Amino acid sequence: MKKQTIAIHTPYTRPDTYGSLSVPIYSNVSFEFKDAQTMSDAFCNRIKAPDYSRISNPTVTNFEQRVKALTEATHVTAFNSGMAAISTALLALVTHGKNIVTSHHLFGNTLAFISGTLLRLGVKPRLRNLTNLETVENSIDEQTACVFLEIITNPQLEVADLKAIAEIAHKKGVPVIADSTAIPFTETNLKALGVDIEVVSSTKYISGGGTSLGGLIIDYGTFPQINQRIKYDLLINLGVYMTPQAAYMQTLGLETLYVRYQKQAANAQWLAESLRNVNDIEHVNYVGLDDNPYHNLAKQQFGPTAGAMLTIDLASREACFSFLNRLRVIHRATNLFDSRTLAIHPASTIFGLFPERQLAQMDVRQTTLRLSVGLEAPEDILSDIEQALKKE
Ligand SMILES: *Cc1c(COP(=O)(O)O)cnc(C)c1O
Repeated sequence: MKKQTIAIHTPYTRPDTYGSLSVPIYSNVSFEFKDAQTMSDAFCNRIKAPDYSRISNPTVTNFEQRVKALTEATHVTAFNSGMAAISTALLALVTHGKNIVTSHHLFGNTLAFISGTLLRLGVKPRLRNLTNLETVENSIDEQTACVFLEIITNPQLEVADLKAIAEIAHKKGVPVIADSTAIPFTETNLKALGVDIEVVSSTKYISGGGTSLGGLIIDYGTFPQINQRIKYDLLINLGVYMTPQAAYMQTLGLETLYVRYQKQAANAQWLAESLRNVNDIEHVNYVGLDDNPYHNLAKQQFGPTAGAMLTIDLASREACFSFLNRLRVIHRATNLFDSRTLAIHPASTIFGLFPERQLAQMDVRQTTLRLSVGLEAPEDILSDIEQALKKE
């Protein structure tokens, strides 16, 4: 079956008394057992049965199984946010004295987790240019816990050569962790490129219109000890499991993901092409544009679509602020891949507390606006942008 069919027809394993057509929300905390032996078997992992919803819950398990059916993963674990998934994956790999080879071009909280939280625990960040393979090779040593990168970085929209990086890392026995939030895992085959673990903020494309926070670790089983540490240590001890309510909404989100994504990516492509001809826009950055430096690599690695995030550069920070203030259809809000089109000025918001020097290292410019393109008629988005650029 094709993925859009699998996304809808993966059954849940425990049919409820009423034959509910969609998975029920098991909102309860605790589960009862018929006898003491079964209870012991469940708690000691000799049988698979939920006992307490911080550790396992049928609604969340169903969501995980659907994601598993849509990927070639050996293990899928759902978390209560993208950051919970990312921090847990990294904590499963590091110990004091290890290092992480990654880049300045990271989601703000991921960068803060690696270069702040983990640094305090004695793990060293190696923030490098991952588009330079020689640099990657020279940065990995015996103490490297993993290479961590985002498939299309935000807001720079940089794409690294995953296959080449994975080959270098694997030669040295080091796993590659990729944050694949920018393009849904249903559109790509990152395992074939050598990625060992995908981490995803399912808050974005999967949730279906910004309904709920969530995160996923999609583990391809190439480093089996990682899943042991996630499932039997960190997930339980940190208390970061997804809630059944979020799992229900995100299961419904998976069912409409294919059509929503195709439409949003097509809208973004059309809009990016149209915006190139608009006066007052100095630069349009979108990897779907054929003169974008990452266009061919992105196409090779992720397929024909390029996601629904693009950036535009105006003359100044003041021009960006006036533009945002004049918008009528597009919303001034953070988040990505909502049903609505959203606009934000990253340098003064998401990265607003970083010093100028660090903004320069991260290539976050005062002239850049980020757009997350929604499901509206793209002509309406274009008109809103054109009217917001007009000076009275
Ligand atoms: C939003 C985002 C995250 C964090 O996800 P949350 O669900 O907000 O915790 C991580 N990585 C990327 C690329 C994101 O866009």
